[in-house]
Amino acid sequence: MSQCLFCRIAAKEIPAKIVFEDTLCVAFEDINPQAPHHVLLIPKKHVATLDDLTSSEEPLFGHLVTVAARIARERGVAKTGYRLVANCQAGAGQSVFHVHVHLLGGRPFHWPPG
Ligand code: AMP
Ligand code: ZN
Repeated sequence: MSQCLFCRIAAKEIPAKIVFEDTLCVAFEDINPQAPHHVLLIPKKHVATLDDLTSSEEPLFGHLVTVAARIARERGVAKTGYRLVANCQAGAGQSVFHVHVHLLGGRPFHWPPG
């Protein structure tokens, strides 16, 4: 989708601090970090929300999670703890309608979230 911000980041039409990329996904630094480590993981394929994922995309979404876990290990936050967040729809805080996983780490996290 040419007008989608995250599709444009994946296509390198908009700059981002990309920390990992493969054929399926891109990981980049969040522009407004909420923790010392705040990385966004997106599929290269445009899917608007979690609610739009189909069963054929289960491996794709699982890939985002395993890549996030690897980045957390590489950054040394896997043992102390990190959080993965995927907001679905505006009511849950989704502001960019291209499905993504937030990797947050490097500080304590509380429960329940806000
Ligand atoms: P969400 O609110 O869950 O949809 O998350 C969207 C995230 O994208 C927010 O944490 C924003 O700070 C982040 N964001 C928005 N624009 C950019 C951008 N150009 N580069 C990197 N991160 C961005
Ligand atoms: Zn998109």
